[in-house]
Amino acid sequence: MGLAVICLLPINRIVYRFILFIFTYCVLSFMKLNYTPFLLEFKHPFGVSSNTRKETPTVFLTLESGGWIGYGEACLPAYLGETTEHTIGFFEKARPLLEKIDSKFELPGLLNKIDLLEQGNNAAKAALDIALHDLEGKRSGKTVAEMYGFAQSEARDTSFTIGIDKEEVIIQKLHEASEFSILKIKAGTEDDRKLINLIRKHTNKPLYVDVNQGWKDKHHVLEMIHWMKEQNVVLVEQPMPVAMRSEMAWVTQRSPLPIIADESVKRLVDLEKLEGGFSGVNIKLMKCTGIYEAMKMISWCKKNNFVILLGCMAESSCGTSAMAQLMASADYIDLDAPLLYKNDPFRGISYKNGKIYLNGKPGTGVEPLPELITIG
Ligand code: MG
Repeated sequence: MGLAVICLLPINRIVYRFILFIFTYCVLSFMKLNYTPFLLEFKHPFGVSSNTRKETPTVFLTLESGGWIGYGEACLPAYLGETTEHTIGFFEKARPLLEKIDSKFELPGLLNKIDLLEQGNNAAKAALDIALHDLEGKRSGKTVAEMYGFAQSEARDTSFTIGIDKEEVIIQKLHEASEFSILKIKAGTEDDRKLINLIRKHTNKPLYVDVNQGWKDKHHVLEMIHWMKEQNVVLVEQPMPVAMRSEMAWVTQRSPLPIIADESVKRLVDLEKLEGGFSGVNIKLMKCTGIYEAMKMISWCKKNNFVILLGCMAESSCGTSAMAQLMASADYIDLDAPLLYKNDPFRGISYKNGKIYLNGKPGTGVEPLPELITIG
């Protein structure tokens, strides 16, 4: 009897270790999803041609697998038409798919499956895409830029955005933007010439002008573009409403400046249907469902000689750092959103003298600030 117990002890130890191994493998390997809604607060109310807002609802997300954590963000300004409730609903719809997957997932295949779960929900899909790219980067020890074959990007100039506001606030914002070499101006009202003239009293910096569909007459649009070229405006974004396709094509054919599509193009399929309406596109992760689709759009633009502007939907450092991984591909960069907030709960890219710097850490290079956010 005593001999039998002694003989069983090592077997028990092996069984115990085997059970512990299986338990650890399951706990650490299979993907775990968590999320937290968050309200990003602007330093100044942010005005565009259709509305002004003080904050941006956002949902932050973590995907945990193999001992790594990937971070994602769904940024949800109201005009996007995607709510916190819908976004969380989509995460829950994706949960069974994600929780079946271990740390050795195949990224494009998984992203295609997520995309097919339901139409729309582009910001929710972008959050999952960003977190999965972050995980994949951490697993492989590469930055997302390296995963897509970009050399560790040099720092790039970004524009600094100045929303529609009262004269005194615009002047204050111009001072705040002193270290930036390019400004992005929100326009699209009857006072656009007055606005540019005001800015020109204070600075001669090149300007990107974003009209947010605010102009309606094609002759007026062309006249404004010619006048703006003389004011050192270097591009005009979405001058007319999405529905005015033939008028946009008419303007683009005659414009001396690049005409960039924003509201007219969400995903690759929209780019393919443009038919001469624009000469470039503002690619945003929240519109296009994430990095994977953004890379497809970048390839299309390179093939079709289309101007690439990398922008954002006013994300925190979490989403903006993900997009900044692709900045080596861009003609123009508008990724200043984290600077517009007073409670950005992530750290990632940094800004110095108007340039964006990647930090070279694997994945998207972001980490949450525990004093501002706990996810899950
Ligand atoms: Mg825009």
